[in-house]
Amino acid sequence: MTEKERTEFKKFAAEEIAALETEIPRLAELVKPVAPDNAIGRISRMDNIVNQSVAEAQLSKARVRLARLREAVKRADDDEEFGLCMDCGEPIPMARLKAMPETGYCVDCAE
Ligand SMILES: [Zn+2]
Repeated sequence: MTEKERTEFKKFAAEEIAALETEIPRLAELVKPVAPDNAIGRISRMDNIVNQSVAEAQLSKARVRLARLREAVKRADDDEEFGLCMDCGEPIPMARLKAMPETGYCVDCAE
C-alpha cells in the first residue's frame, strides 16, 4: 500500500468514524423503551416496537463497524503490511478495504 493509499484509507475511515459517532447516540436514543404511561395508542405502540427493533439492529451494526474501523486505522498506522493480503501478499483493493476494513485477505483468498 502506498503512502497515498494509506492516507486515503485513513481519511475515509476518520470520516466514517465521525459519522458513526454521531449516529450511535441517535440510535441509542431510539432504542430506549417508551414509558408505559406515555399516552400513545396501541397501533403506535406496536409501530414503536418495530422501529425500536430496527434501531437496535442498526445500532449493533454501527457499533461493530465503528470498532472495525478503529482497529483498521490502528493497523494502518502500525502495520507495514496493512492492505496486503495475509495469504498471497497481493494488495487488497481499496474498495474492498473500505467496505470491509476488518479483512486481511484479497477476494480470491477470502473464498
Ligand atoms: Zn490473496
